[in-house]
Amino acid sequence: MKVLIFPSFLKQFKTLKDQTGTYSLYGRKYEDFTVCHLTGIIKSDGSDQLIGILSIKEENTKNALHYPYLHSYIESENIEDLKISIHNSTDDILSNIPLNIELVDLQRLFVRIDQNETPLEVLKEKKVVIIGMGSGGSLLAVYLAKSGLKNFIFIDDDRLETHNIIRHICDLSQLGRYKTHAVKEFIEKRIPDVNIITVEKKFELHTRADSDEFLTMFEGVDLIIAVSGEHVVNYSINDFIHTNRLPIPIIFAGTFDGVKGGLMFKVDPRNNDYCYHCIYSDPVDSNSTSSLPTTSELEKQITYDRNLQEQVAQPGLGLDIDNLTILLSKFSLDMLLDEKEHALYHFDQNFYMWFNRTIIKSDGESVKFEGLELCYYEDLTKDSRCPFHGNKVDGQTETGE
Ligand SMILES: [Zn+2]
Repeated sequence: MKVLIFPSFLKQFKTLKDQTGTYSLYGRKYEDFTVCHLTGIIKSDGSDQLIGILSIKEENTKNALHYPYLHSYIESENIEDLKISIHNSTDDILSNIPLNIELVDLQRLFVRIDQNETPLEVLKEKKVVIIGMGSGGSLLAVYLAKSGLKNFIFIDDDRLETHNIIRHICDLSQLGRYKTHAVKEFIEKRIPDVNIITVEKKFELHTRADSDEFLTMFEGVDLIIAVSGEHVVNYSINDFIHTNRLPIPIIFAGTFDGVKGGLMFKVDPRNNDYCYHCIYSDPVDSNSTSSLPTTSELEKQITYDRNLQEQVAQPGLGLDIDNLTILLSKFSLDMLLDEKEHALYHFDQNFYMWFNRTIIKSDGESVKFEGLELCYYEDLTKDSRCPFHGNKVDGQTETGE
């Protein structure tokens, strides 16, 4: 039998090893007891099951357990001396089973990517806020955690519904839960030492208290990634950062037009970049595309948001969203590593678009966007109507000076 001993079990065992007695044994058993995970003596993880009993320095059995169960027995303080028997029924006891014991070493999780190419010592100090835990946000969170990020804040008030599942990382067992909680657990099952704060509310600023709460929460944050797919939330985060003059870059990302494509752009107030208002000028008219960097009629149809009908019936596949999310994850890592040496792809531009289909102009004459191609815009400028970068602001600054 292959026995994998998890750090959570070992930690609990160390506190109990001198106390003679019989305890519960939590873990997982697979393939007819050929593989067993010992995870704890006290239940610590949602996926733990009571799989047997652990006797320390005494011979004892409990009959209250359902068959089959493990009886593990240890006489010394050395976990390598573990002995296990399987109780199939009152009379059917399998003992003296040869054990192949392995201590699970979580330090080995990142051993293969701990290279100059991805400087983990830089990434593990960074703190990222992700606003929106939908199909894009949840996968982004997983990718960033698997890339070595340790500190996260997840903000979303949504709960998992049945129609989410085929595009979301979480499964049916998570239905009805807050997406923030489900995604946090999903990641912790892979990377236990990650620090995730969850906030089960929309990013909205109705009162001074809301503002104060987020100001405190965002202390020390290195990057905000806004992937809620809602204009209102994006305007709020953009305005919050600019009004309070916080030196925190933001990446906005989302899909458009039934996930035919997606876009992502960064706004870095430290560089005095154009902002969300400069790209989408009118918060009241969320379908406004007038400030998009486009000339053709087709491009003018490209909007960031989903309308109500699309939210009900949205044809895009999960993999269409995942395509953009992979690029978004690389875009985010590039921003976080900033001026540090790394060998990941470097994104020179602020604004990128990705097309899942080849999109042909409505007149059918020419192909405008090749599918599966990353395009960028380098000619975006600040909008004269932007409350932070527009004429009004410039005028005030000039008279002020
Ligand atoms: Zn602006």
